[in-house]
Amino acid sequence: MNAYLASVLENVKAKNANEPEFLQTVEEVLTSLEPAINAHPEYEKVKLLERMVEPERTVEFRVTWLDDKGDYQVNRGYRVQYNGALGPYKGGLRFDPSVNLSIIKFLGFEQVYKDALTGLPIGGAKGGSDFDPRGRSDGEVMRFCQAFMTELYRHIGQDIDCPAGDLGCGGREIGYLYGQYRRLVGASEFGALSGKSVTSGGSILRPEATGYGAVYYLCEVLKHDGEDIKGKRIGVSGYGNVGWGIMKKAAELGAKVTYMAGPDGYVHDPDGIDTDEKLNFILEMRAKDPMHCKPYADKFGCEFVAGTKHWGHKDVDIYMPAATQNDVNMEWAKKIAESGVKYYIEVANMPTTNDALEFLKKQKHMVVAPSKAVNAGGVSVSELEMAQNAERLYWTAEEVDKKLHGIMKNIYASSVEVAERYGLGYDLVAGANIAGFQRVADAMMAQGIF
Ligand code: GLU
Repeated sequence: MNAYLASVLENVKAKNANEPEFLQTVEEVLTSLEPAINAHPEYEKVKLLERMVEPERTVEFRVTWLDDKGDYQVNRGYRVQYNGALGPYKGGLRFDPSVNLSIIKFLGFEQVYKDALTGLPIGGAKGGSDFDPRGRSDGEVMRFCQAFMTELYRHIGQDIDCPAGDLGCGGREIGYLYGQYRRLVGASEFGALSGKSVTSGGSILRPEATGYGAVYYLCEVLKHDGEDIKGKRIGVSGYGNVGWGIMKKAAELGAKVTYMAGPDGYVHDPDGIDTDEKLNFILEMRAKDPMHCKPYADKFGCEFVAGTKHWGHKDVDIYMPAATQNDVNMEWAKKIAESGVKYYIEVANMPTTNDALEFLKKQKHMVVAPSKAVNAGGVSVSELEMAQNAERLYWTAEEVDKKLHGIMKNIYASSVEVAERYGLGYDLVAGANIAGFQRVADAMMAQGIF
């Protein structure tokens, strides 16, 4: 390995030994940058990589709120403003008990290169809290969000940092966060948060954007092989906004999701989750209890298998992990490779462990696409939301969809082009990492010491 790259990696490992998820993503990204680092020896002198792995700013804060019983509750809040070279920091807020600094740093680091890949003027950040919205009343969620924003508001703004949602932080939470932000700053500063409801300045199609974008990206991958999405069967994990958006767009384009996995097990619906009735049922099911997908199987009379995942089944054409990080480890990757299914399209952030990703990439019969490219449609429409807010106007669903489609095609094309330019062949993973990295590197080099 390039000596400079190797020494940076070693230092990051020594300095962040207690942050496994963060180290996992840094290792994955840096390793794939090797040809770009070889081509740019000038980066070493200005310690470009050392700067890139260090967040520009990290804020950690106390969030105190009252639950319905009148008891005090204390959570920890985070915002890691990772890199602002390309524009205002942009990235979601995750509300989940698993949240800690390592998770937020991993997501923030990924976000920098994902946001760069969109070609839009946005830097990368991530934030969140170890608050668990599940089982909490509306009032509790509102009080938590208000307390969270009472600290966060001083660090964000339409030209500074624009948070959005992520796991556990959907339209309801963004609504409460934005309401408190507006109250505190005393202005309708719409561009300080994205993912707002349309009546509060949100963009049409933002909830569906990540899933729609993932399917548009998939269409490019299939086109490259002379294939059509029509008639394809897809296995997804997750049925939140992202998984749901995939189901909807796939159905619209004549494909169907036949497997869906959740925390309780998986559902197999060979007819496809492709009718309005089925898609609407998932919305209701999720609103009542996001932890169980079995009610879908009960309602539509299909198979449910508890406590396991569907990876490795042969009767699909495409796997799309769209739930959360490290969903597919080495054991599952082997099953996936053995199944003979050709397309492994990551959607959730880092859904594959590094060893499993390497293993899958080595399978000659497979095409592997990385999440930071595939799921970039969400943040892209967030940026379109910021642009609409700056102009004080709304685009129609058709306009947003068309722009999203164009952005996803560009992301795919630039990843393919960069990988070929560096002699890596058809490597969508390295291509995405290098293409994103190159934009951030160019901006940092132009802006001097920071
Ligand atoms: N959390 C989403 C992501 O990972 C959305 C971020 C955003 O819209 O700013 O890209």
